[in-house]
Amino acid sequence: PTDINNLSDEYLRLAYHGMRARDNSFNVNIITEYDPAVGEVDVVPQDMGRVMLNLINNALYAVAEKTKKSRDNGEEYEPKVSLVTKRKENAVEIRVSDNGDGIPDAIKDKVFQPFFTTKPTGQGTGLGLSLSYDIVTKVHGGELLIHGLNDGGAEFIVRLPMAVNQT
Ligand code: ADP
Ligand code: MG
Repeated sequence: PTDINNLSDEYLRLAYHGMRARDNSFNVNIITEYDPAVGEVDVVPQDMGRVMLNLINNALYAVAEKTKKSRDNGEEYEPKVSLVTKRKENAVEIRVSDNGDGIPDAIKDKVFQPFFTTKPTGQGTGLGLSLSYDIVTKVHGGELLIHGLNDGGAEFIVRLPMAVNQT
């Protein structure tokens, strides 16, 4: 059993520090909301960590791109990435959202395909979401969903089943 809030926070820090190491001028407002009722879930920690890292890195990339674009256009923009966990009746939910440019409808059903990427060569393999999808669904019997956009950005939801008698 793994504490999902700890795991999420650990990988959020890892992703953030990785981003800052590549570009120390990058600034982002990170909002976290960890539901204490989430507790421990039976997951493979390294695998779920990989999922968190993929989702958070995608979110950070999206807001970093929008930061550059806004700067070039002289527009105001406050990059935000949020990580929220929530205990549901028989599941836990982890939501990773950002206020980047979001995912156009035309590519929404492609983003989980292996090797699908819109990033320049060298910046993306297109494997992050397809791998994450397999880890969440096949390894953990959960769901990985793209949710309605907030602030025009993107939101991904990981839903992991919990045994009813587990607390
Ligand atoms: P990669 O990050 O290597 O491109 P992924 O499988 O992680 O591969 O993501 C596939 C594509 O999905 C990205 O290239 C991008 O077009 C889109 N995408 C994923 N996450 C986001 C996000 N948070 N905001 C906007 N687009 C996203
Ligand atoms: Mg990625």
